[in-house]
Amino acid sequence: MQVPDPLLRVLPELADLPFGAEPLASCASCAMAPRPSDPDAVFVSPTRCCTYHPRLASFLAGRALRRGGVGAERIRQRLRNPDGVSELGIVPPTGTRERWAGRTAQVFGRDPSFACPYWVEGPLGCSIHEDRDAVCRTWHCKVVTGQRGQVAWTAANVLVASLERRLARWCAERAPADVRGVEWLPGDVAERWFVDAARLVDEASDEELRALRTSRVEALVEAAARRAAERDRPLPDVVVPTLASWERRPEGFSVTSFSPFDRVLLPPWIFELLSRLDGERTWRDAVDQASDALGHPIAHDLVWMLWSRGLVGVPVENEGSDIPVLSVLPDD
Ligand code: SF4
Ligand code: SF4
Repeated sequence: MQVPDPLLRVLPELADLPFGAEPLASCASCAMAPRPSDPDAVFVSPTRCCTYHPRLASFLAGRALRRGGVGAERIRQRLRNPDGVSELGIVPPTGTRERWAGRTAQVFGRDPSFACPYWVEGPLGCSIHEDRDAVCRTWHCKVVTGQRGQVAWTAANVLVASLERRLARWCAERAPADVRGVEWLPGDVAERWFVDAARLVDEASDEELRALRTSRVEALVEAAARRAAERDRPLPDVVVPTLASWERRPEGFSVTSFSPFDRVLLPPWIFELLSRLDGERTWRDAVDQASDALGHPIAHDLVWMLWSRGLVGVPVENEGSDIPVLSVLPDD
């Protein structure tokens, strides 16, 4: 996970947290773009998952403005509407929030009228890629390790978003009088302020930025690291099914572990095995017993695949979970 330099100055260990690319979310050739061969690929191309209005912190908007080019132009266009523009940054305008509310399933990935104001034509579609917000950095339509991976990404999102807000508030405390407390900033004032905010962060001393590193932030770092370690743990001897949903298909069952966008096709007899993964017997015993019941062998690799895709997990009483699986969609 690449994060902006100011966040790394507050928290250098962000660079070492194990959050790499998610190859199933193949953005350059969008995994969710409609394809006749895949009924689950349903996002309207080309807006894809960028049917979303980010919450762009002041200093990130300023960095994008300073960078110039298409990203700066897109931010200036967004600033023509002051609704949602404040000393803290740029959030969705009221009309967008009202039209979206309660309709995520209908509009996300599907309704181009919700296209991000910073979206542009092209393989990756983002004009402010280096300065995008925490949700855009941590959201993926598909996650290799399924639910475990999504829990880890959620923890990373909470951490990065928290740092963005802290830095934005730190900037706001230093904002000039014509900016502080103004609900809707005029475009020219907002542009000048956001560039100033980026400069303020650049010029901040290490001591000032270290002061943003509170015990709460340290707890979020620990939580993200712990969730990543849980994501990467080896397959235990005892597992239970963690399916979020399943649908009958001609070839078997299309199942999910965390999101309707991330589906796995399993054989039609899969519940003979899953029903025996009861949290008490080992998965090897469950495989042997299901094989006997079916009259054909089940490869152990199938259980490894279920584990690696987050479709089975450790029994809940052993998990010690303290971070809920937040919304899997970037919903406002
Ligand atoms: S994360 Fe977005 S752009 Fe990337 S593959 Fe998924 S829907 Fe497409
Ligand atoms: S900021 Fe970039 S990545 Fe995020 S929604 Fe907009 S175009 Fe997509």
